[in-house]
Amino acid sequence: MFDAVADVQDGELALRGEHAPLLLIHGGAGVERASMTPQMEAGARAALELSLRKGYAELEAGKTATDAVASAITVLEDDPLFNAGKGAVFTHDGKNELDASIMDGSTLAAGAVAGVHRVRNPILLARAVMEHSPHVMMVGDGAETFATEQGFKLVDPSYFRTDRRWQELQKALKDDAAGVPLTERLMALKHFGTVGALARDSEGRLAAGTSTGGMTDKRYGRVGDSPIIGAGTYADAACAVSGTGWGEFYIRVSAAREICMRMTELNESAEQAGKAVINDEIPQMGGDGGAIVLGADGSISMPFNTEGMYRGWIGADGVPHVAIYSSDVLDLPQPMH
Ligand code: ASP
Repeated sequence: MFDAVADVQDGELALRGEHAPLLLIHGGAGVERASMTPQMEAGARAALELSLRKGYAELEAGKTATDAVASAITVLEDDPLFNAGKGAVFTHDGKNELDASIMDGSTLAAGAVAGVHRVRNPILLARAVMEHSPHVMMVGDGAETFATEQGFKLVDPSYFRTDRRWQELQKALKDDAAGVPLTERLMALKHFGTVGALARDSEGRLAAGTSTGGMTDKRYGRVGDSPIIGAGTYADAACAVSGTGWGEFYIRVSAAREICMRMTELNESAEQAGKAVINDEIPQMGGDGGAIVLGADGSISMPFNTEGMYRGWIGADGVPHVAIYSSDVLDLPQPMH
């Protein structure tokens, strides 16, 4: 809960027609305690806090929700612990193919890239597609040609490689060769690690973004939910969502848009809408994962149906709040204008 000082500050801001900035992030669902070391936990917490601080600094400086989302996600893309940017998972044929999207809820402008393998920060390229092209989504070589035209310096594909992700692929390939069915193998790959961010700026604008390497052992050209507007990412004037999990299911239920639609049209709270899609609809179909949800009134929910999800938020008190497992208590701010 907000403390008394934050409550007063929020009330004063509301009277002036301003909004207390808020930033939420996730670093992926599917975290399992058994596969974590104390070093990994400490590293993840530190990275989440850094991401929150960097993104929040943008909001405090009066920048837009889109600026904060891009900045928070860039930190996590650069950290090898997360499955986005450096540290992305490998495809079946041993490559890193990255997907990302971003949406400005105040204008419904959106940008996305899929299947890029030489762009260090795919979220920044997604933003360039949104702001400097007439398109919403660009893929593969075309997206990278556009990146060069936009002044992005491409990196060697080996930049994304980490040994941990390589070993995860080797295990998946072994299971593949042993005839373990694809659905079972995907179920076993709990370490999703996609990253996402949502922000509300001082003018009350919302934005959402998501970035990922996808799923280990995915086939060449497979695109998940993260770069698909309405599936992995969505923002409008009332609501913002970023998802993480087994992407095929998120696409099939239009997860992010469905959560927002429940909030705007069915009048559900962030908690009710998030729960309905993440804890009911998706598991009922056989999928799993989580999401972060932000309402324009500052209401928040962070539902997931796995053992853990890297997650955190920062608001008026300027202190990052982060959590990993479902047993971790993460106090959320009260809804407020
Ligand atoms: N949703 C991502 C995908 O299916 C994976 C993840 O969230 O980690 O590509």
